[in-house]
Amino acid sequence: MAVLDQLTSQQAIDLENKYGAHNYHPLPVVLSRGEGVHVWDVEGKQYYDFLSAYSAVNQGHCHPKIVNAMMHQAQTLTLTSRAFYNDMLGKYEKFACEFFGFDKLLPMNTGAEAVETALKLCRKWAYEVKGIAENDAEIIVCENNFHGRTTTIISFSNDPVARKNFGPFTDGFIKIEYDNLEALENALKNNPNVGGFLVEPIQGEAGVYVPSEGYLKKAKALCETYNVLFIADEVQTGIARTGKLLAVNHEDVTPDILILGKALSGGAYPVSAVLANNTIMDVIKPGNHGSTFGGNPVAAAVAMAALEVVKEEQLSENAEVLGQLFRNELNTYIKNSSIAKHVRGKGLLNAIVINDSEDSDTAWNICMALRDNGLLAKPTHGNIIRFAPPLVMTEDQLLDCVSIIIKTLKQFER
Ligand SMILES: *Cc1c(COP(=O)(O)O)cnc(C)c1O
Repeated sequence: MAVLDQLTSQQAIDLENKYGAHNYHPLPVVLSRGEGVHVWDVEGKQYYDFLSAYSAVNQGHCHPKIVNAMMHQAQTLTLTSRAFYNDMLGKYEKFACEFFGFDKLLPMNTGAEAVETALKLCRKWAYEVKGIAENDAEIIVCENNFHGRTTTIISFSNDPVARKNFGPFTDGFIKIEYDNLEALENALKNNPNVGGFLVEPIQGEAGVYVPSEGYLKKAKALCETYNVLFIADEVQTGIARTGKLLAVNHEDVTPDILILGKALSGGAYPVSAVLANNTIMDVIKPGNHGSTFGGNPVAAAVAMAALEVVKEEQLSENAEVLGQLFRNELNTYIKNSSIAKHVRGKGLLNAIVINDSEDSDTAWNICMALRDNGLLAKPTHGNIIRFAPPLVMTEDQLLDCVSIIIKTLKQFER
């Protein structure tokens, strides 16, 4: 079969099954086109995208401004490596530093790479600025975290599926309960070897767990008291998803280290970054860290366009307003529902909890029915369904989606 032959859905699925490693379990739908809040399968059926590639496509599919920036740069200069300077990286670094309010940026490609970068940065700061004895530094993390898939990152995951038979693991991490300030203080006090606290402002993969109000602010204050870096993994929650530019902005917290990815490129290209002020970032010297593709001109052009779209189209404000509407509408329905227990979230990062055991396939079956009804979502951790549409959605579209979701839930009421 020729590369350009149009496949049927079943043919595309069969090819992936036969020739691709089985490291995912996709919902059976084969997409071939996207625009704004919509995607289309190879048979031409239209869907609302309620996953947005795990919040990478906040700006909507194939946003013309982002695509144009990418095409223009792709025809001009794509990659120099950091062995030489290029005329886009500095512009982008200045733009992003001013956008998020930090002194410096370190460019990478994927979210996991940016998390790894933040961990290395934190350790180096711990030894060279805080004065911890070599190899003694520890970083506090939270239970049920998701920070990516590298060997070090899964070392402090507690998801058995992500860890089993991938050991030996990396040392130097202390795991505490999420949303528990007492646990954080206990881990900090009497332990001068702690260099940082790595946290998701909302735990996305775990099932959209929003911490108690004030948690982030008080956690940041505790970190200051104990001279420990507050590291915010905003790879999923950042870039307008939760109704603010960053989820930490809801509590006026400025992290010491900010980790971004996913929507930093609007889903057009893998772009991630770590931002920090000079006292922290200046511990990194030539040769300490790097990436062949990190900071390439296409990534720089795409990220600037993607961030401009966020401002120009007021995506934070839209996420805030539509998120309220979404939860209000679903709450009204759920009050009298036997299949849905509750809806939670912030902005347009939401989840409904299905009233069934964690190992049941009810949430999966609901996602299959949502697919048939024209809306794509995916269960996360058994009985939870995450709802995260592109932030360029209109109110009419959102209400249309709410009616699809309610119609589908009705098919499962007992
Ligand atoms: C997706 C995600 C990552 C990992 O990003 P990749 O680009 O998949 O490596 C890290 N942290 C959080 C919070 C994420 O949601």
